[in-house]
Amino acid sequence: MDDLDVVVRAAHQAFQSAADVVPRVRKSWLDGVADALDASLDELVDIAHTETHLAPARLDGELRRTTFQLRFLGDEVLRGLHLAATIDHADPAWGMGPRPDLRSVRRPLGVVAVFGASNFPFAFSVAGGDSASALAAGCAVVHKAHPAHPALARRTAQIVVDALRDAGAPDGLFALVEGEEQGVRLVEHPLVRAVGFTGSTRGGRALFDRAAARPDPIPFYGELGSTNPVFVTPRAWERRADEIVEGFLASVSLGRGQFCTKPGFLAVPSGGDAARRVADAAAAMGDTPDLMLSERLRDSFETSLRALVDRDGIDTVIGGPSTSPEPPLSILTVSGEAILADPDLFEHEAFGPASVIVEYRDEQQLHELARLVGGQLTTTVHGEPDDDAAPLLAELSARSGRVLWNGWPTGVSVSYAQQHGGPYPAATTSTTSVGADAITRFQRTVAYQGMPEEQLPIELRDDNPLGIPQRVDGVLRLNGMEVNR
Ligand code: NAP
Repeated sequence: MDDLDVVVRAAHQAFQSAADVVPRVRKSWLDGVADALDASLDELVDIAHTETHLAPARLDGELRRTTFQLRFLGDEVLRGLHLAATIDHADPAWGMGPRPDLRSVRRPLGVVAVFGASNFPFAFSVAGGDSASALAAGCAVVHKAHPAHPALARRTAQIVVDALRDAGAPDGLFALVEGEEQGVRLVEHPLVRAVGFTGSTRGGRALFDRAAARPDPIPFYGELGSTNPVFVTPRAWERRADEIVEGFLASVSLGRGQFCTKPGFLAVPSGGDAARRVADAAAAMGDTPDLMLSERLRDSFETSLRALVDRDGIDTVIGGPSTSPEPPLSILTVSGEAILADPDLFEHEAFGPASVIVEYRDEQQLHELARLVGGQLTTTVHGEPDDDAAPLLAELSARSGRVLWNGWPTGVSVSYAQQHGGPYPAATTSTTSVGADAITRFQRTVAYQGMPEEQLPIELRDDNPLGIPQRVDGVLRLNGMEVNR
């Protein structure tokens, strides 16, 4: 046994001994981690600032979001909706023939491998969404540290491990490993039952392929890159072009463009003076104080920006490839015809401060462009109340996890209805990595047939000792009341 094997085996053992703790206990573990992280906020923000160059105020907000998320998911564990407890009593008169007693509940998967992204050193990292939702589901977590913030990863992991131990969780329920090779071996380890990944399409795809090539393939929940196109209707552009340009530039340059939800394309009517408006607004806005997160991301941004600029039909309005350590805001333009001739362009993510304005000829071309969009985390429409936007919204909701109206996609709230994911290549499955539903990725449903009451999981007992929602003979019961008869 080598170190990785020892870590994964310990995680597996901890999972087994913790799989059936009652919801109140599991919530106390998540709360314990949240409290410990909050108590170390200043120290963690200092380390993160040194390693990532992100501003302390942004990091402070991101850590508070992270601890909110842990408590939010703990509350979900108490509510028990994620268990989808379902009871079908035996029914000799059942329409398709006599039915046996059949009951199902979602169970935790086991050890989950988690990979975080460099641009969210807290919220999508060691104690971020994937770790929190896997722990909430009842799984154990082995997190692969991101090489862009190793000291932060180690310190955060130590706080998580200590907090779990202080709260009474079994040793090994959470662990950290480091290095690309360990990451690959983790995905291939026989005791790992699922992977949560946030990062680039290239890295995610490489690991997804390994998960799929295992003798026993496991689910791989990859939240990958996205270009988040925004479509502006002719009316909206005519009535409030300057306001739209201002919002667009603020969203593109936030965090120097290093957000997976950055709007990478803005489709506007041609002949609407878009280039001049953007140049004027960008000059008035000035440079962002945020820096590139790492040399590696800076180099990959320059490479993808150069590749964009070299495509046929692309013109530069401001910025362009540069040798400065902090690349300036780059806004490019292209015609609708050029994208129709080269549809892959819509998939081209330049992860940094760059975006492309697409000038469409007429509304028909706007719809043709919308039909070219591939899988996206988000798409957005800027429209007016007198627009018939339904066909455009229908096209876009078929292609994206979240569809926005008159807003900007940067900023992903942790809440019940949130959907952060989308069809490939935005994600490897159309599940969400943010919000209440994220827990269900790390569960699987087991049905129990003809089982005596005393052998049933506690969630499926008729007397419902946990007081969780149960669907009984088709009728949802909440707090003892039938809600859909
Ligand atoms: P990344 O380079 O893909 O790294 C993510 C993690 O995967 C790291 O731990 C990395 O470790 C590992 N990794 C990458 N390629 C690997 C390979 N071939 N084999 C083994 N391990 C590998 O991503 P990033 O640079 O941190 O993040 C930027 C990207 O993430 C952007 O494209 C952005 O859009 C996306 N992102 C998406 C979301 C979302 O929610 N969808 C959120 C934030 C960011 P090693 O470097 O040690 O290999």
